[in-house]
Amino acid sequence: MSDAIQDRCARGADARARFAFGDRPWPEEGLTIMTRRKKIYEGKAKILYEGPEPGTLIQYFKDDATAFDGTKKAVLEGKGVINNRISEYVMIRLNSIGVQNHFIRRLNLREQLIKEVEIIPLEVVCRNIAAGSLSRRFGLPEGQALPRSIIEFYLKDDKLGDPMVAEEHITAFNWAATQEIDDMMATTLRVNDFLTGLFGAVGITLVDFKIEYGRVWENDFSRVILADEISPDSCRLWDSATNEKLDKDRFRRDLGNVIESYTEVARRLGVMKEMPTVIQGGIQ
Ligand code: 5GP
Repeated sequence: MSDAIQDRCARGADARARFAFGDRPWPEEGLTIMTRRKKIYEGKAKILYEGPEPGTLIQYFKDDATAFDGTKKAVLEGKGVINNRISEYVMIRLNSIGVQNHFIRRLNLREQLIKEVEIIPLEVVCRNIAAGSLSRRFGLPEGQALPRSIIEFYLKDDKLGDPMVAEEHITAFNWAATQEIDDMMATTLRVNDFLTGLFGAVGITLVDFKIEYGRVWENDFSRVILADEISPDSCRLWDSATNEKLDKDRFRRDLGNVIESYTEVARRLGVMKEMPTVIQGGIQ
């Protein structure tokens, strides 16, 4: 499909989804989508475009789903719309308790305006319950509560399979300074405490999550703030009553109902009233 046709399809799908959400009318937001912009970076699930002002970027949420370092791929219609909404909500709530992050405001169904940061090439994983790679590595039964929250660092490098790294590697290879590691650990624990409560209040157990950080510079000084996204793509979220998975493991493990589960998370958080039409009808 040509870029122009894809663009028109995306606009049609977004318009239908917007209608379902009872969002603002189409033309006003459509202009944002149609504007020609310089692409800064394209990742597996998001695209970054140049922002309207220096120091800003536009983060576009794609429907693409990938797993196992990009070896498993699919397009899940509507995923980007849901993740944009959930991440917006979580970042705003975190900001309200003083956790600084890159989110400025949501622009439309798939895009948000963010602060430009110098991404630290690490994935910071925080775990409360054994699952995924932790269960595999140590032979722990999935679902076993951990004696305390555990923070791990992984190098962001798909070609190397995002290897786990120690503080020694991080400082020796200059990926982050000791003070930045301390700041990331303290912030991650705070994010974990807050999100455990936020999700817990709507019957969802926060099993684990991955976050990323970036530097913002003020003259010669930098500070580390939360970046990227927080969504069912980057968290393990289980229904507290049934332990049913409501996150990307549904895609990784071919459990089905991926979008329905993401929508359920959004619905419980109160950020989405109903299933968007874009998911049911698809893009024509
Ligand atoms: P695990 O190491 O068990 O595979 O993942 C731990 C947590 O981090 C899970 O919530 C998982 O979704 C998240 N995670 C780990 N690596 C990635 C990644 O490359 N991308 C995303 N979106 N999440 C990740």
